[in-house]
Amino acid sequence: MSKTPITVAYGDGIGPEIMAASLQVLQAAGAQIDIEEIVVGEKIYMAGNTAGIEPAAWDSLRRTKVFYKAPLTTPQGTGFKSINVTTRKTLGLYANVRPCVSYSPFIKTKHPIMDIVIIRENEEDLYAGIEHRQTDEVYQCLKLITRPGCEKIVRYAFEYARRNNRKKVTAFTKDNIMKLTDGLFHKVFDEIGVEYPELEKEHWIVDIGAAKMADTPEMFDVLVLPNLYGDVLSDVAAQIAGSVGLAGSANIGQHAAMFEAIHGSAPRRAGQNLANPSGLLLAGVMMMVHIGQPDVAERVHNAWLRTVEDGVHTYDIFRDGVSKQKVGTKEFGEAIIARLGQQPQTLKPVSYANGDSIPPGAAVSVRAPAKKDTVGVDIFLAWDEADRNPNVLGEQLLKVNHDGFDLAMISNRGQKVWPKGAAETFCVDHWRCRYMSKDNAPLKHGQIVELLGKLSDAGFDFIKTEHLCNFDGIPGYSLGQGQ
Ligand code: NAD
Repeated sequence: MSKTPITVAYGDGIGPEIMAASLQVLQAAGAQIDIEEIVVGEKIYMAGNTAGIEPAAWDSLRRTKVFYKAPLTTPQGTGFKSINVTTRKTLGLYANVRPCVSYSPFIKTKHPIMDIVIIRENEEDLYAGIEHRQTDEVYQCLKLITRPGCEKIVRYAFEYARRNNRKKVTAFTKDNIMKLTDGLFHKVFDEIGVEYPELEKEHWIVDIGAAKMADTPEMFDVLVLPNLYGDVLSDVAAQIAGSVGLAGSANIGQHAAMFEAIHGSAPRRAGQNLANPSGLLLAGVMMMVHIGQPDVAERVHNAWLRTVEDGVHTYDIFRDGVSKQKVGTKEFGEAIIARLGQQPQTLKPVSYANGDSIPPGAAVSVRAPAKKDTVGVDIFLAWDEADRNPNVLGEQLLKVNHDGFDLAMISNRGQKVWPKGAAETFCVDHWRCRYMSKDNAPLKHGQIVELLGKLSDAGFDFIKTEHLCNFDGIPGYSLGQGQ
């Protein structure tokens, strides 16, 4: 069998120890891999490269398309970019796959029956990093949810469930509040779900869904989540399964994939042969499936389960009465190697016989764009006069010539304050003024520019605009509080 080239970063802190142990186990199990080592992280940051990664490292990643990465230390302070975020976005690694399994009674957990896989969207949502201070008092972070982004991640989750003989896929969103963005995620979930009739589908509002997951994780199977909810809840899930030290994750894209532990570089434990290599090793198991060596993945995973069952434990999972032998990183790896070929006796053995349990990243289907008509504009003003009385602002705005538009409403932090606002509503210095075109007639950009010119001439400080568009006749904007 020819060897598959992979790019390996030994990482920072406990990284080099857990990577050495993990590679040793994989190779002892017969992994046919050709390792290209790259140095990223602390050393590169400290040499003055704020990205923490050099061009030659990208060359290797583009060549091998497979990245096995130990945790990295992102230095404190501004200016340093997280390599995780950079790698995910640069290589388009849109699906973060994180199995969270409990290993009761061998590893302590309040949830002995837990076997969930969180599939987190990795590229968009609030993580676009588009933030602005708009007025003296108001800061904004843009939440971007896209149709291709939703389609890719939702399809990935259903494919994962199908290939792994899972029974149910659950989505969490907050679409009772964010009707357009989270609403799109939910809608795409419903649309694509139809193509998977054999799978049960359900949707929960994220707050109660998260509470249920933390309380009764056995209710869930595969979970698909937008980026932020997925970020938070995948750590919760890993922790309640037993320890964040045990979970591995795969980051899958159409062109490349990255495999890593979910924990960080644990600098206080570095260099002491203490750290648990399990998270990185289990990420390596997913990598072996991904590169078409499922037999190696199966041997390693089952030997690891047997080691855990035999009570050979690193300090973080060691428990008097349950554990039999406290071992270091290296010895833990050796214990797994000694059990290669064995199956667990109590825990369920894994099988990767079908060989495709980590679906590859897919391209998104192309669709015809909808017909777009601009029918209004939300003009955001910084305004701090007249004790912030919205009625005064409304009167002032009505005096500015706005031919072709109706001033439909003014809101403050999304709450309608004009016309007929409530006197009790607390107002900040940031106002959304909604102008609709008369008779819903499609607008030209020039009309909006003209309106802005008149507001500017009247002394108003506009800080941003959002066009209000209908797509195939359906409003592409929220209608405002209470509507
Ligand atoms: P951490 O995950 O490194 O450590 C949290 C706690 O868990 C510590 O008590 C640590 O000792 C323990 N722990 C973590 N992994 C362990 C293991 N394998 N075995 C035994 N115990 C383990 O989180 P942190 O302390 O918040 O972050 C430390 C550094 O790691 C920071 O620089 C952070 O930026 C970085 N980090 C990197 C990644 C990554 O590369 N994917 C992820 C998270 C944090």
